[in-house]
Amino acid sequence: MKGFIKINKELCKECHLCIIACPQGHIIAGKEYNAQGYRPVCTTNEKECNGCALCATMCPDIAIEVYRE
Ligand code: SF4
Ligand code: SF4
Repeated sequence: MKGFIKINKELCKECHLCIIACPQGHIIAGKEYNAQGYRPVCTTNEKECNGCALCATMCPDIAIEVYRE
């Protein structure tokens, strides 16, 4: 199974729960600040998303959407 995610960078509050939850290591810490003063997470092409949706389930701010291919 493969998938991809979309992160709403303005909703992210930099808690990093999704990084902990992702079994693939696909989500990494971000460096750029959003309008709220947080640094939203982003994804890395070095590790693939499998579409498991654990990140979206864990996110308290509903900032992640998961799509399966
Ligand atoms: S859907 Fe699963 S594999 Fe993909 S980024 Fe989220 S936790 Fe990681
Ligand atoms: S769990 Fe949600 S709010 Fe927390 S870092 Fe990940 S995307 Fe941002």
